[in-house]
Amino acid sequence: MNEQLLLGQTLGFGADPFAGGWQAATRHSAHGAVLVRDGRIAATGEASDLRRAHPRATVTDYGDALILPGFVDAHMHYAQTGMIASWGKRLIDWLNSYTFPEEMRFGDPAYARGQADLTLDIALANGTTTLASFCTIHPESVTAFFEAAEARGMGVVAGKTCMDRNAPEGLRDTARTAHDDSKALLEAWHGRGRATYAITPRFSPTSTPEQLEAMGALWAAHPDCLMQTHLSEQTDEIAWVRDLFPTARDYLDTYEKHGLLGERGLYGHAIHLEPREIDRLAETGAAVIHCPTSNTFIGSGLFDMAGLKARGIPVGLATDTGGGSSFSMLRTMAAAYEIGQLRGTPLHPAQLLWLATEGSARALHMGGQIGTLTPGAHADLCILDLASTPAIAQRSTRAEDIWEAVFPTIMMGDDRAVRAVWVSGRPV
Ligand SMILES: [Zn+2]
Repeated sequence: MNEQLLLGQTLGFGADPFAGGWQAATRHSAHGAVLVRDGRIAATGEASDLRRAHPRATVTDYGDALILPGFVDAHMHYAQTGMIASWGKRLIDWLNSYTFPEEMRFGDPAYARGQADLTLDIALANGTTTLASFCTIHPESVTAFFEAAEARGMGVVAGKTCMDRNAPEGLRDTARTAHDDSKALLEAWHGRGRATYAITPRFSPTSTPEQLEAMGALWAAHPDCLMQTHLSEQTDEIAWVRDLFPTARDYLDTYEKHGLLGERGLYGHAIHLEPREIDRLAETGAAVIHCPTSNTFIGSGLFDMAGLKARGIPVGLATDTGGGSSFSMLRTMAAAYEIGQLRGTPLHPAQLLWLATEGSARALHMGGQIGTLTPGAHADLCILDLASTPAIAQRSTRAEDIWEAVFPTIMMGDDRAVRAVWVSGRPV
């Protein structure tokens, strides 16, 4: 039996640190170990105990580096990797000027596969082992992404982005083709290996009511799939939705009316919410996905983490590349901290790390499978060097506890802090 034993500091969670306090939720060991067998975590505990119990295991000693679950990026657009960091526009102009011309290219399977390979390699270099990606309207773009993930043993979520209006010629499908193409793709990919399909209307402004209805019908027929979309990102966008759907009670209602509100729904951004929308999200158990670098980069607004978590709404954390300005979940946690500060509710490092791992995993309905060091989970791991640059090292040497040691890496770290990454029990 091939067993691998990884030694280092370990940090995991026994509960949601927003709910009962971060102290009680946290499991930290200064001399910990993770035992990996058959692609899964077999045990997590003290290094001395696991070494004694598994003397034949192959040992990899990471010293005082921090062994974490791999990061889970709960909302991104792999087809926008090529135009990340495009200057000067807000949402609607940004889509028209930069995003749509790039997405047009993904009907070419070779180009799509190249961008999928590139994006997944960048993600892995940043310690991200699971991504939930929007693809483009082209079925080829979905196949390319799932194939690239499968080749790396990665568990990913993806879906064909559906748009049948307010998008240029060449980037529009119809209600019928969106339904039929999505159905064929989910039948081919959902549950194959580690792949999960998400039914993916881009957002209400680019779908007719007929298309939203067709997507809702598809979800009703395949309720174990996820559904991902965008919600209330910018005030101009919300006004546009009001014009396009004059009888809807609010933005969320444009989805709810068409069968696109449910527990397995993922709503990116969710910044400018009405009280009724918050109530409905809380009642249904749907998840919202916080994309902080995107919200500041595109100038969207300040997400209400404390308010939404207090209502019990599941929240995931995400880069939203290429609207987001970084592939790094470290940078993303830093931006979430900064937005919390601007709202007067700073997030504890335990809460930030939980959001980037288990919080996102739970939002994707993969709790216990990824984003955790609990036995039985996939052995997707990120090992962080907490002294990766001179600036970080000089600060972390003064640390008196694990939080002071890890917070400088959250705020100032990047891919140089990622010492190793394991996917499905193998180092990559
Ligand atoms: Zn997005």
